[in-house]
Amino acid sequence: MTNLPINPVVLPSDLKDQENGNLDVKLLSPIDKNNGRLHHVAAKAFSIMFNAAKKDKVELIATSSADTYRAYDIQVRTFENRYSRIPRLGQESKIWQGKKYWLKKGKAGAAIPGTSNHGYGIAIDLVINDKVLEWLLNNAEKYGFSWESQSENWHIRYVLGDKLPKATATKTTTTKASTAAKPKPAKAVKPTK
Ligand SMILES: [Zn+2]
Repeated sequence: MTNLPINPVVLPSDLKDQENGNLDVKLLSPIDKNNGRLHHVAAKAFSIMFNAAKKDKVELIATSSADTYRAYDIQVRTFENRYSRIPRLGQESKIWQGKKYWLKKGKAGAAIPGTSNHGYGIAIDLVINDKVLEWLLNNAEKYGFSWESQSENWHIRYVLGDKLPKATATKTTTTKASTAAKPKPAKAVKPTK
């Protein structure tokens, strides 16, 4: 199994007085080609990454709009859908509101409501296939994104806080080596529009 890079999260400073899952809508921005929203810094970084991926013919699409910024009640629904009060021996368990919950059979884990990085608008779940995963492994960290758990290769979160990724400032910095390895120029095809 591929080892996913997991870097610690720095939260954007304007989240300090915000409640997880109940963010001021002014802090959220829509994201490219996805019906979802992220914290404005994460959204900007995602947009940069989205466009870089697109150039490589890779589409970064959220699994659903509820898998971008996730309001508290949606996180509750997600949690209740995946965990149950019925004990399951040897299965992952979590304490929520003083009660113990066990992961249901065949379900992916979810954060305890009020603690998810989705509730801060910095996490996004992506439709993953081999091509997408390979691209992300090669590039996500450059754009400030990394994973949270080895068992969830679809869940990435923005870790640079208020800072935008370096890959933003300048257009993809071309090294001398890559100039040499310039791809053969495509036959000049006149764009039709
Ligand atoms: Zn997620």
